[in-house]
Amino acid sequence: MNPTTIAHWIAGQRQAASSGKSQVVTNPATGAVTAEVQFASVADVDAAVAAARAAFPAWAALPALRRARILFKFLELLNAHRDDLARMITAEHGKVFTDAQGEVTRGIEIVEFACGIPQLLKSGYTEQVSTNIDNWTLRQPLGVVAGITPFNFPVMVPMWMFPVALACGNTFVLKPSPTDPSPSLFLAELLQRAGLPDGVFNVVQGDKVAVDALLEHPDVKALSFVGSTPIANYVYETGAHHGKRVQALGGAKNHLVVMPDADMDQVVDALIGAAYGSAGERCMAVSVAVFVGEGTAEKVLPKLIARTKALKVLKGDNLEAEMGPIVTRAALERITGYIEQGVQEGAQLLVDGRNFDGSRAGEGCSGGFWLGGTLFDHVTTDMRIYKEEIFGPVLACVRVKDFGEAVDIINAHAFGNGVSCYTRDGHIAREFGRRIEVGMVGINVPIPVPMAWHGFGGWKKSLFGDMHAYGEEGVRFYTRQKSIMQRWPQATAKGAEFAMPTSK
Ligand code: NAD
Repeated sequence: MNPTTIAHWIAGQRQAASSGKSQVVTNPATGAVTAEVQFASVADVDAAVAAARAAFPAWAALPALRRARILFKFLELLNAHRDDLARMITAEHGKVFTDAQGEVTRGIEIVEFACGIPQLLKSGYTEQVSTNIDNWTLRQPLGVVAGITPFNFPVMVPMWMFPVALACGNTFVLKPSPTDPSPSLFLAELLQRAGLPDGVFNVVQGDKVAVDALLEHPDVKALSFVGSTPIANYVYETGAHHGKRVQALGGAKNHLVVMPDADMDQVVDALIGAAYGSAGERCMAVSVAVFVGEGTAEKVLPKLIARTKALKVLKGDNLEAEMGPIVTRAALERITGYIEQGVQEGAQLLVDGRNFDGSRAGEGCSGGFWLGGTLFDHVTTDMRIYKEEIFGPVLACVRVKDFGEAVDIINAHAFGNGVSCYTRDGHIAREFGRRIEVGMVGINVPIPVPMAWHGFGGWKKSLFGDMHAYGEEGVRFYTRQKSIMQRWPQATAKGAEFAMPTSK
């Protein structure tokens, strides 16, 4: 049987790719091939950018309120099709259905935010900056902008980008992950049904060829990237070299600090959900637990071990499932390689997820990419399993003597995406928020993903660029400021002035 072919969406319709290159799409729960995704050639990217460029003048000229009305309609359609999108995510990514529903909801929230674009684009005005002169600033769209997105949130991460970019009056080319490409085309169809003019939103499937074509294309004015740190770094540098505005969000290693006064039952719940939810394949997953002071680890570990062993690792469409499969065989092999590395480095393996038998996960699952929750104790900061992003259901426990040491090791880490501190002490909580060198901080909140109007972004190797995704920073990223100073003089010519203009 020929699998479904997935290709581009250009100028309001599906388009085949011309490169002749493709990749299979797999259901990670079973290992079965479900589709084939065709990769873009440079000519395909050129066609998508040309469609976006042609659509730009009319879209940018449309009053922001009318652009928002299309987004309101899109919002209705997203709500109506929330579960269809979630099912698509589960089928290609593997995450459990309720988690996929949550992903779609977090994406929908960005659309809700973008619907307020008339207010967000309102700008400053100063009357009479000099006699008879007024000055105001406005923010205008950039033109064609592009988004390059990772496998782990095939709906939410594109929706960190395009709702805001479109609301601001830009046109968009999305290059999703080839691992789970189906939602991108469904989103394009929903946008069309919402009344979005053809060419305003385009999708090209592909790999490095497509990314490089976007990075080098003179008509692409800005790029938003989310993915691993080496590629984020590359996209940032190459995009800047080609004169583009770039925001490139990278990888992570997120710590959860457990103070001795924390509510330990809450800590166990937080660690279990944040380390193993979505099989640890979240850029905000907690991958390091930092136990502060004598005896703190001993209060948590017995329960944590029991709960890790009892995780319901099942096929994602089983509503009982707490954790689904790993996204691909290659990812599974990378993660098991790290587990072996941890053992070699001398960490204590308390729960070994490699023992998990996939056929227990559900019917047809013996060929899937399965791993159980994995727990290491006595991990030290010189180990690779501490320093590097594993991006799987592997939690490393580190012990430190006091709060200051916890802050120091986190601040010394290369990544700075998310962090959390569990405590009942208000002063500690305040100090933690103030001193920690991480972009997104939770106090008794394990996964502090900022709401749609606050903006998302890490520090250090977790973000290249200076503006965060979505929220007001997103509006700034997708617009450029213009200042207009205006005088309507009375008909009295005074001659040219050669000194710097000052207020008169
Ligand atoms: P990835 O870096 O492999 O891929 C991301 C995108 O880049 C994809 O569209 C991919 O096709 C493209 N790409 C891959 N290799 C490329 C190359 N050599 N040149 C040009 N483009 C290339 O990431 P992934 O495995 O899809 O996603 C997981 C990673 O994303 C993790 O590191 C995770 O932490 C990170 N992530 C970060 C955030 C964040 O907000 N900071 C959010 C989600 C995921």
